[in-house]
This record gives sequence, C-alpha cells and structure tokens, in this order.
Amino acid sequence: MRTYFRNVYRGLITILIGMRQTWRHLFTPSVTLQYPHEKWDLPVGTRQQLFVNIDDCIGCYKCARICPVDCIYIDTVKAKPDEDLGKASTGNPIRQHLVRFDIDMFKCCYCNFCTTVCPTDCIYMTDKYETSVYDRSNGIYHFSKYAPDYAAKLIAEEKAAEEAKAAARAAAKEKAMAAKKAKVAE
Ligand code: SF4
Ligand code: SF4
Repeated sequence: MRTYFRNVYRGLITILIGMRQTWRHLFTPSVTLQYPHEKWDLPVGTRQQLFVNIDDCIGCYKCARICPVDCIYIDTVKAKPDEDLGKASTGNPIRQHLVRFDIDMFKCCYCNFCTTVCPTDCIYMTDKYETSVYDRSNGIYHFSKYAPDYAAKLIAEEKAAEEAKAAARAAAKEKAMAAKKAKVAE
C-alpha cells in the first residue's frame, strides 16, 4: 500500500516538474520568426545580391576584370561619332552601348571586389538574399536595357563598320603599294 502511494506521489511530482518547464516557456519571449512573413534585419554592409544601375554604367569593364570567378559578362558597342549617350550621374561620359551586362549570381563568391573598383558606383550589393530558383539559368541576372534584337542590330552594325574600315585600309595600302611600284618602274 505504501509503495502504491509513493508511486502516485512520484507521478504527481514528475508531472509538476514537467509542467514547470512548460509554464516557464509559455511566458518567455519567442526568438523564432514566422519566416517568410517576418524577417531579421540584416547587419549594415551585408553582402547579398548584386544590382547594377545600368543607366550609370560606362562599360569600363573594371568590375569584370577584377572578378576572381569571372561571373560578370559584359559586351559593349562603341557609340557612333555623332551619337551622344549622355553622362552617368557622377559626370563620367558614356561612350558605349551596354548590349550585354549579365552576372551569374550562382558563381559569385560575394567578395565585393567589383563594387569597390566601379568608377560610377553603379554596381552594389543589396540586402536581397532570397534567390531560390527552379531553373539554373534564372540565377543569371540580366541588366542590359537593350532588347536582344536591338542589341544584335548594334553589334552587326559595329561589325560591318569595322569590316568597311579594314577594307578601306587594305585598299589604301594596296593603292600605295601600286603607286610605289609604278614609281620604281619609271
Ligand atoms: S562580388 Fe566578387 S565574385 Fe561576385 S561578381 Fe563581384 S567580383 Fe565577382
Ligand atoms: S565597373 Fe562600373 S561602370 Fe565599369 S563596367 Fe562595371 S558596373 Fe559598369
């Protein structure tokens, strides 16, 4: 009989000890966040997704050259002599069409080098870190404002102009050689 009451007593004590923990946690402020509805404030200077304010980019390639993992892809087309592309907000003249400015954020190691060399501060880290995608290609961010067709047109025009210049140079060289030969023959 005594054993019976001792077991009952122990059972009650055990329940009370367990409930003490429960009650204590009931009144402790919660440290969990209801993500994604709630988010932590990130520290100042946090390195997350890159952004490029393409209107201020002068196509100097400095960011692409310093990138240790080669994940910035830039293609430019020189503005025509009579074409004014304006200036960046820092006053740097823009002399190139940015027909391609892509960053592969899945290759990026968040070293921040690219942002430190940019003369117009147009490439910078944001506080966006939710980047899950279903398709690998969606990890490549496109910043050029040119439509693919128009970019292809600009590239083709530049190529044609360069070929025409090369042909003119070759023709001039040939003409000079012919004139030289004629002079020697006289
Ligand atoms: S942060 Fe570093 S790795 Fe990422 S794009 Fe810039 S230079 Fe390249
Ligand atoms: S360093 Fe800046 S201005 Fe130069 S290409 Fe990169 S983003 Fe553009």
